[in-house]
Amino acid sequence: MSNEYNLIKAGANIKNIEKKQSCGYEEIKYELEKIAGIENIKYCEPLKNHTSFKVGGPADIFITPRNVSHVIDIVEVCKSHGVPFFIMGNGTNLIVRDKGIRGVVIKIGEYLNNYHVDGEVIEAEAGILLSDLSKIACENSLTGLEFACGIPGTLGGAIVMNAGAYGGEMKDVVISTHYLNNEGELKVAVGDEHLFGYRTSFIQKKGGIVLKTKLKLRIGDKELIRQQMDILNEKRAKSQPLEMPSAGSVFKRPPGYFTGPLIEQCGLKGYSIGGAQVSTKHCGFIVNKGNASASDIIALIKFVQDKVKAEFGVHLEPEIKIVGEE
Ligand SMILES: Cc1cc2nc3c(=O)[nH]c(=O)nc-3n(C[C@H](O)[C@H](O)[C@H](O)COP(=O)(O)OP(=O)(O)OC[C@H]3O[C@@H](n4cnc5c(N)ncnc54)[C@H](O)[C@@H]3O)c2cc1C
Repeated sequence: MSNEYNLIKAGANIKNIEKKQSCGYEEIKYELEKIAGIENIKYCEPLKNHTSFKVGGPADIFITPRNVSHVIDIVEVCKSHGVPFFIMGNGTNLIVRDKGIRGVVIKIGEYLNNYHVDGEVIEAEAGILLSDLSKIACENSLTGLEFACGIPGTLGGAIVMNAGAYGGEMKDVVISTHYLNNEGELKVAVGDEHLFGYRTSFIQKKGGIVLKTKLKLRIGDKELIRQQMDILNEKRAKSQPLEMPSAGSVFKRPPGYFTGPLIEQCGLKGYSIGGAQVSTKHCGFIVNKGNASASDIIALIKFVQDKVKAEFGVHLEPEIKIVGEE
C-alpha cells in the first residue's frame, strides 16, 4: 500500500517537473533565477491566483521581484532574448484570458513597498497598496489621499489607471514618477508629463514601468482624515459587491450617463453567462459567482455592450484591461 502510495507520489512529482519544463523559455530560466532568486519564480503559475476576479490561465513564468534593480535586470534579460513580458500590480483591474499569458509576468507587488515621508511629500515604491498608502498618509496627518482608501490596487496600477473615486484621483496628488521606458532607460515624469486623463496616463499612451512615485499632500487633522476614510469605506461597502470577486467598475462612465442605471434599465441586473453575473448590488460591476471563466466574463461584457448600444445608442468602453492569449 505504502509502495503504491509512493509510486503515485513519485508520478505526481514527475508530472510537476514535466509541467515546469513544458513552460518553455529554458534559455532564460537560469538567468532569471540568478537575478530574482528561485523562491520568487513560479512556472506555469495560474493567474487566477493573482487577480481579484479569480480568473486567468497560466503565466509561463511568474516573478515577484524583490527590488527595483531586479525589475530592471529581469526586463533586460527578457528583451535581450526576445521573450515577451507583462507587468501587473495587484491584478484588481485585469481579466486574464483562460489560456493565460505567454512569456514572463512580472508582479510589482508586496516587496516593492518602501516609502518615505518628508513633510507633505510621500515617496513610495510602485508595489505598495494604495489602501496602505492612505493609512500612512493618515498616520502622518496628511490629507488628500482619503479618496483612495478603498481602491484595492497598487500605487503603480493607480498611476497607470489614474485611479480615482469620490471626486478625487491620482492626478490631484502626484508630483513625479520614476519609470523604466520602453528602451529600458530610467526616466522621471514630472507634473503634466503624466498625461493623466479619465482612467489613463502616459504609461497607457507610451508604455513603461512605474517604479516609484512622489505624492504631495497637505497637513490635516488625523482624526478628521480617519473619519472621512471610514465614511467612504462604509459608502463603498453599501453600494458595491465587495463580498464577491470582481475587478471593480467594468466600464468607463460614458459622458452624460451613469453606467449602472443604463445597464439596469436594459433589464440586465443579475443577468448571467456561465459563472459571470451582472451584480445585483451595482450593475456597473460584473461578479464571479464562483466558477466563472474569463470567457464567461468577456462574453457578458460584450452582451451588455450590445444591449446598451441597442437600447440607448451609447457605447460602453471597458475600464478593465483584458490581457492574455485568445
Ligand atoms: C472591488 C474593487 C473596487 C475598485 N474600485 C475602484 C475605484 O473606486 N476607482 C478606481 O479607479 N479603480 C477601482 N478599482 C480598479 C483597480 O483597483 C484600479 O484600477 C487599480 O488602480 C489597479 O491597480 P492594480 O495594482 O491592481 O493594477 P493591475 O490590475 O495589476 O494592472 C492594471 C494595469 O496597470 C498595469 N500596471 C500595473 N502596475 C504597473 C506598473 N508598476 N508599471 C506599469 N504598468 C503597471 C497593468 O499592466 C495593467 O495594464 C476597483 C477594483 C475592485 C476589485
